[in-house]
Amino acid sequence: MNFEAVIGLEVHVQIRTASKMFTRVATGYGAPPNTLTDPVVLALPGALPVLNKAALDAIIKTGLMLDCEIASVTRWDRKNYFYPDSPKNYQLSQYDQPVCRGGWVELELPGPSLAVMGEHKRIPLTRIHLEEDVGKLTHEAHDSLIDYNRAGTPLMEIVTEPALRSPEEAFAFLTSLRTSLIYAGISDCDMEKGQMRCDANISIRPVGDTKLGTKVELKNLNSTSYVRDGIAAEIKRQLNVIASGDTLVQETRLYDGETGRSASMRSKEMAHDYRYFPDPDLMPVRIDAEWKARLAAELPERPFNKQRRFIDAHALPYSAASVLIRDRALADFFEETVKLGAKPTAAANWIVNDLLRQLAAANQSVSESKMTPTHIAGLVALLDQSVISSTQAKEVFAEMFASGESAPAVVDRKGLRQSTDANQLEAWCDTAIRNDPKSVEQVRAGNPKAINALKGAVMKISAGKANPKLVDEILKKQLGV
Ligand code: ADP
Ligand code: MG
Repeated sequence: MNFEAVIGLEVHVQIRTASKMFTRVATGYGAPPNTLTDPVVLALPGALPVLNKAALDAIIKTGLMLDCEIASVTRWDRKNYFYPDSPKNYQLSQYDQPVCRGGWVELELPGPSLAVMGEHKRIPLTRIHLEEDVGKLTHEAHDSLIDYNRAGTPLMEIVTEPALRSPEEAFAFLTSLRTSLIYAGISDCDMEKGQMRCDANISIRPVGDTKLGTKVELKNLNSTSYVRDGIAAEIKRQLNVIASGDTLVQETRLYDGETGRSASMRSKEMAHDYRYFPDPDLMPVRIDAEWKARLAAELPERPFNKQRRFIDAHALPYSAASVLIRDRALADFFEETVKLGAKPTAAANWIVNDLLRQLAAANQSVSESKMTPTHIAGLVALLDQSVISSTQAKEVFAEMFASGESAPAVVDRKGLRQSTDANQLEAWCDTAIRNDPKSVEQVRAGNPKAINALKGAVMKISAGKANPKLVDEILKKQLGV
């Protein structure tokens, strides 16, 4: 029998706000343990929560960006459980009136090569709700340590329908979601810092079945590649269980990215076990059209819409467009360069190849770099007007990157102007022909590629100043080919 995998993700994303979800104490990562706390975070008697509007703004924005339906009234519920990571014995969350329902995330699967666009799919979402993050427990030898710095940090939980069909789709889903949230400034989504965390629900069923199989929830997937590899391993495990004649049990399993194996953690709890009830300290919130419209106006263009626009309107190759849209600042940099008059393909090439390479080597982001759209546009213009050759352009680029000098300034200072003076070019070509009779013979014998050696010699003699196109013409004329 053939089986297919069915996967639904529950993604927790920390919202980037200055203060916590229900109190004014600061959020943060890496501060000394238990310094980011106050009576509300610690649930001291009499402390009352006050909603942070910035967190609500962020989740509404997320919902608008992902085409969710935004609730007109939303409210908070207590999810009751005892565990020392939460000082209240309950977590403030949302049960039956979440901020967002429905919506979808567009993903792109890898294409047959980096130059070819892969399949795009829309993955439907069930809901997105707000809740507060919990503290962190560390176990050392016989001690358990508690740090409440993270407790009360605004968190969104994004729940998908069981609509993903492979580990690769789950990977692509997270990559796309992450890009969108970073674009909109909602979160930095750094999985290493726990700003984005993902649990995967996985089942298998015979191909053609419409009923869902028994699901396993996989936790501790701490990076996008752990999500992919953990899901792949779980699908394999489930296939093996079925193949050996056993039945699958609904459970929560903990994945270990080091070994690639998972172990059972607990049999799955149900929603009613948590005894959800509306929080009596917090008021329901009405979200009106005006509020939504104000946030909608702040939304960035969606990354894949940008990708399509770069390909259609700027005639960029898919590979360049897909690299540019991965980083909103880089995509903006490109568009600025084009606005300054640079040809889109040329600008994209300099940015995707040279700029990204230099930034990586210097460990810099685009915004930290001395290089601006004006620099690239200036360089492209000098090349276009044949003031410099492409070899010289590489040199100008490196100088601009290092010093922040403009392209024309570098060209002037280094005397890099390309020579188009016919007499000068002919003299250089003469010398090259005289010095290399072997290549001359080969060209005349009908080997057109042999001319490259002569061209190279001219570039060398001229210290890179000869215009390559003119050199080609003159050499051919002089050799009579
Ligand atoms: P629970 O009540 O256990 O939290 P939910 O129905 O709320 O389960 O679903 C949680 C997540 O699990 C969702 O992302 C959903 O799409 C996914 N899911 C539910 N059933 C299955 C299944 N049989 N196989 C795979 N994923 C599933
Ligand atoms: Mg659930």
